[in-house]
Amino acid sequence: MTGSKQTEVSEAPLEPIIGIDLGTTNSLVAYCDERGPRILEGPGGQRLLPSVVRYNEADGGVEAVGREAHTHAVEHPGNTIFSAKRLMGRSVADVRGDLEYLPYEVVEGEHNTARVGIGERLFSPQEVSAVILSELRGWAEEALGTQVRKAVVTVPAYFDDAQRQATRDAGRIAGLQVVRIVNEPTAAALAYGLDSGAGYRVSGIEKKEDGRVSLSTKLNPEACTTETDPPSAIPNPPSQTVAVFDLGGGTFDVSVLRMMQTDQGRVDQVLSTAGDTHLGGDDADRMIIELIQKEVREQFGEQIEFPASTRQAFRNLAEATKIRLSDESSAQIEVDLGVDGGGSPRVYRRTLVRDDFENMITPLVEKTIRCCRDALRSAKCSADDIGRVVMVGGSTRIPLVRRRVEEVFKTDPYTALNPDEVVALGAAVQGSILAGVNRDMLLLDVIPLSLGIETMGGAVSKLVMANSTIPAQATEMFSTYADGQTNIKVHVLQGERELVADCRSLGEFELKGIPPMPAGLPKVEVTFLVDANGVLSVQAVEKRSEKRASIQIVPNHGLTREEVDSMEAASYEHAAEDMAAHRLIDLRNQARLDIRAIEKQLAKVGDGLDARYRAGVEGHVAQVRAMADDKAVDPDRFHEALDAMDKSTVRLAELAITQTLREE
Ligand code: ADP
Ligand code: MG
Repeated sequence: MTGSKQTEVSEAPLEPIIGIDLGTTNSLVAYCDERGPRILEGPGGQRLLPSVVRYNEADGGVEAVGREAHTHAVEHPGNTIFSAKRLMGRSVADVRGDLEYLPYEVVEGEHNTARVGIGERLFSPQEVSAVILSELRGWAEEALGTQVRKAVVTVPAYFDDAQRQATRDAGRIAGLQVVRIVNEPTAAALAYGLDSGAGYRVSGIEKKEDGRVSLSTKLNPEACTTETDPPSAIPNPPSQTVAVFDLGGGTFDVSVLRMMQTDQGRVDQVLSTAGDTHLGGDDADRMIIELIQKEVREQFGEQIEFPASTRQAFRNLAEATKIRLSDESSAQIEVDLGVDGGGSPRVYRRTLVRDDFENMITPLVEKTIRCCRDALRSAKCSADDIGRVVMVGGSTRIPLVRRRVEEVFKTDPYTALNPDEVVALGAAVQGSILAGVNRDMLLLDVIPLSLGIETMGGAVSKLVMANSTIPAQATEMFSTYADGQTNIKVHVLQGERELVADCRSLGEFELKGIPPMPAGLPKVEVTFLVDANGVLSVQAVEKRSEKRASIQIVPNHGLTREEVDSMEAASYEHAAEDMAAHRLIDLRNQARLDIRAIEKQLAKVGDGLDARYRAGVEGHVAQVRAMADDKAVDPDRFHEALDAMDKSTVRLAELAITQTLREE
């Protein structure tokens, strides 16, 4: 790979165009430069800003924005404004169905528009949204160290002109020029690069009869020059049809999009949308709250009162419990209800297991599935026509939701990017295109850096080599290192160097619940699959128990062409020392395994050995052990000592085997 394209533009200070996901529940801001898109964090590293504003009832001033306002919303029902997005560009008649969910006052304002009433004052939903937008603008200015005046803002695909205009107006009030309004599902697809047509620029891929792609880990230096094969040279790449499944806090949408890359640039078309504006994670929270309240009444009497602070605690606890159940199979719930009339403490405790939670929310999840079928029908598509399903919205972290979507679309949905961040990331990508940022981002017809996993002792075992054409797949078997090991951590790495410390960590996951077995017995099959869009799925399956776990990653976000080049160069530069280090790790691992086996044999048959032979074996073991601990050991001498130890124990091993056979 040679140097990258240089343009003058990258030298001049560009006016940044940020991307904003102005959500019903949470809002985020992102920025995209030549490294790719990234979320811009607020104070304390927070990435999500709850779309909640608390006003002072007396003077109408803003009292709290975001997390603080959200955490105390139940305690200030009349002056904490959430879900303002539902009111944007609507009349009171339009939002009649929403009113029962909104504890604050909504009244008819000028020109038949819905307004929020607080004390003596009226606020337009645009003004409320502007408070959120200014907060995010502040985060962006702090993070980028420059003034920010332009933004791309996303809206649901079904927003009409009035709602879109209201969103622009909110931006203007916040001092932001909204240079483009983008549909949320389109933004999500953009974040995954589904518009780039990258998948169609693959040449020389061997498709097998059954449609699978052959293993492709061979070096293919010719294929790696994107410069000689610019995207515009591709003759009319076919379009791809994408479904975007967005389950947020209070709303659900599913959209079917057609993404096309033409000579004129990117074109996308929303073929259909379906959804429910009152369906989301909040419903799951409400179900848990109802369960808690019912059981508390059963335990402490029907007449027990729930003051605002207690209801607030229930709500926060319910959401935390739900979130925990996305990762764990059970969650503890505990509420301190103070003392009863007689002065004895009242504490409610219970465990909620994931299975019960899943049963509870099944009707909710099935509603989303019905909408998916509706959306497919109106787009005149079948599930087989959908190339990719993109998961959006915090509630798609619920495992049941993922499972059902996978079943309906018969494909592994995209979850590599954080589902609650993907819309903002896509908005930032759109912003960078409009800003003319030199998007010399990595084009994905080859894998720029090798991909592998961490093995014992900090070495990297590579599964997919740099310059493999995509799609690519590779499978290797691994095993455990310790006896009775029931969990295996799979650490996914990128880079050309031999040691974990010199590679870039892409993510990790755990394969849990392997039945205890002696070291080396479990068969763990690790599969890497890089699909046509460059999204990497890593799956680990323990073949004896069929336990499996997986992760999805976008390996190329955040690396420029220059960085890839320099990582590649470093691997050549350090090749010799890396190989030596890798060899040492292998020798140490081997030494530990061998010593453990020898000690087991000695424990078994050692008493029957003649003392001189035994002392000889023990001498070898002591020497090898010392060398394994010696950081500066010479690998050749270490290797020799290991061989000598192995040779010395041939008799011991034979004795141990005979003994075992006799026992059986
Ligand atoms: P919106 O697009 O409506 O603004 P988000 O996409 O931010 O909403 O989703 C917010 C919802 O996602 C909330 O109901 C929140 O509780 C839920 N959520 C966030 N993380 C998880 C998780 N790990 N498991 C289950 N639900 C989650
Ligand atoms: Mg959203």
